[in-house]
Amino acid sequence: SPPRPPAEDISARDVFIAVKTTKKFHKARLELLLDTWISRNRDMTFIFTDGEDEELKKQARNVINTNCSAAHSRQALSCKMAVEYDKFIESGKKWFCHVDDDNYVNVRTLVKLLSSYPHTQDVYIGKPSLDRPIQATERISENKMHPVHFWFATGGAGFCISRGLALKMSPWASGGHFMSTAEKIRLPDDCTIGYIIESVLGVKLIRSNLFHSHLENLHQVPKTEIHKQVTLSYGMFENKRNSIHMKGAFSVEEDPSRFRSVHCLLYPDTPWCPANVVY
Ligand code: UDP
Ligand code: MN
Repeated sequence: SPPRPPAEDISARDVFIAVKTTKKFHKARLELLLDTWISRNRDMTFIFTDGEDEELKKQARNVINTNCSAAHSRQALSCKMAVEYDKFIESGKKWFCHVDDDNYVNVRTLVKLLSSYPHTQDVYIGKPSLDRPIQATERISENKMHPVHFWFATGGAGFCISRGLALKMSPWASGGHFMSTAEKIRLPDDCTIGYIIESVLGVKLIRSNLFHSHLENLHQVPKTEIHKQVTLSYGMFENKRNSIHMKGAFSVEEDPSRFRSVHCLLYPDTPWCPANVVY
């Protein structure tokens, strides 16, 4: 779709980016993000983890220990999302964006995308991971159930919510409410966000093809459009290594995620980027 004209003049300062991580990935994943996109956006980026790490605190400006369990359970992940939501509300910023620790965020394109919507209106933007709405069962009481279906943006591709909408979510998302809402439908944190927004509040997800998780074939992101994407990812897909395909400053062996090469494409003045690379 063609670019929309700006609705609002916002800057990176108006955006709150929550990065979800866990202690065992501080070295394995976060370091790469701190070296690349976070290094250019330290103030707006908030890292939500589950264990103390003095080294990490030296490298990153905003590290929040959620004290949530370090398990990959539904409850542990909802616990982190609940803290992300509360910290965003507290921050007073205009936009809440959530990403995983295997996402690269192109903050310039993110800010441009968000500036085409008013932050006071109801905006939920991201990429659905399924090609149809998810079917779930709402537990109304001990023995009363109710089928629901709704779209949700996959957390692994990143998604954003306007402040206007986030404030409306408060009765189901603030304090301990997010955890109990998640229990009501027994689905993961990103689905719970979709449930609150689409099912409870009746606001529709805005689909964007500029957000990418490793659950899609990342080889399909065209080389010439990499700089236009809002988020990228890397990881496993159908039992194979999945990453974007680009020639760049570093070889696949040196830079398997391609994030360092992407970073040099977007910020060629970075000291560790080789000069005179032809992309
Ligand atoms: N994660 C977490 N606790 C865990 C495992 C993973 O908070 O015990 C986070 C991880 O840091 C990442 C997200 O959850 O931000 C998704 O994890 P991963 O990429 O390993 O799994 P996926 O769902 O993408 O296969
Ligand atoms: Mn992942």
